[in-house]
Amino acid sequence: MHIQRQRLLDRFLQYTRIGTTADPNTQDYPSSRGQWLLGEILTKQLKEMGILDAEQDHYGLVWGTIPATVDGPVPTILFNAHLDTSPEAPGDHCKPQVIENYQGGDIPLLSGDSIRISESPELEQLIGKTLVTTDGKTLLGADDKAGVAAIMELANVLMEHPHIPHGPIRILFTCDEEIGRGTRHFDLAKAGAIAGYTLDGGASGTIDVETFSADLATITFHGINTHPSVGKGKMVNALRAACRFVANLPLDHLAPESTSQREGFLHPYVLHSSVSEASVQILLRDFETAKLDEYAQYLKQLAQDAMQDEPRLRIDVQIEEQYRNLGDKLCEFPLAADLAEQAYKRLDRPCKRDAIRGGSDGSLMSHLGLPTPNLSVGQYNIHSVKEFACLDEMLAAVEHALVLTQLWSDQGRV
Ligand SMILES: [Zn+2]
Repeated sequence: MHIQRQRLLDRFLQYTRIGTTADPNTQDYPSSRGQWLLGEILTKQLKEMGILDAEQDHYGLVWGTIPATVDGPVPTILFNAHLDTSPEAPGDHCKPQVIENYQGGDIPLLSGDSIRISESPELEQLIGKTLVTTDGKTLLGADDKAGVAAIMELANVLMEHPHIPHGPIRILFTCDEEIGRGTRHFDLAKAGAIAGYTLDGGASGTIDVETFSADLATITFHGINTHPSVGKGKMVNALRAACRFVANLPLDHLAPESTSQREGFLHPYVLHSSVSEASVQILLRDFETAKLDEYAQYLKQLAQDAMQDEPRLRIDVQIEEQYRNLGDKLCEFPLAADLAEQAYKRLDRPCKRDAIRGGSDGSLMSHLGLPTPNLSVGQYNIHSVKEFACLDEMLAAVEHALVLTQLWSDQGRV
């Protein structure tokens, strides 16, 4: 289908070598220079392909259009990937290692560590495939440079082969997805599409049609500080109160440590503290959006109880909305996922619909008005120095996207 495997690999390797770690500790947008740099390179490459409207906007987002090759009213669709990588593992100085024709077994990394089958059983399905790892010191950034490379190859193939019938295809590379800012400067009117697809998934054949709904609770404990020598009867230690509060949260249920699949949780993950003031951040997650209110009520009740035990303590509970289940919006426009499924069928490949225990740019885009499921692109062990990617699955993602563009163009002409 005209896809150039080596070109896809070369692009991917080039992009992984540019460090684009998102930085949650700055309000700059994008949060790291590498994202500007990668965006510039992509814009230039899109222009070289003949995509004349390719631009990096003043927020750092990269936009472009693959013009329609058919006449008449054909819907515009959009493909999206994100430029940044997770701050949970180092991302600079990535040294990608290509393993052709993987023969099974643990994969030794130059760092001395290895990617073990016992920890990554998916490897069993990847024998004979081409895999890309790092040297074990950084993440690979296949999340989401696999998506970026796949979309670039899709664009290249379509620009080289104008006889392939398709409608207008918008390309969008976003910044700072990993720190929840991926759609901060997303412009629905500028996207101008009827449906979108994020290429930001794992093993082949998966269409993610749901994400968590998510809120962030910030709980602030106001205590009373004195010199410890005269603390008797006076001191109210906010740090102790915060730790007691966290210890009272459930662990055998409603916790990331004890839930899977469709179960939600409360996840305390940040604590800043002194004696006079402490603040705890807790992630509230569930596939049922209504459950988030129950979780918030539960936290407020715990705070009430703690203040009853120690009336000099003051506790504020603030709840902020983060994102909402992608499925709440996709069900209003089932065609987006249905055509993705049909494209797999046309390729004679198995596929399944799945739910992400997390968020995606797609959930925010969908709630802004662009229904956007997520598609597989061969990412594994993301956010880790043991991250790897499967080139064959990246290639399969490009093939799938090509068929998908044709199915959309058929839609417009019936
Ligand atoms: Zn991602």
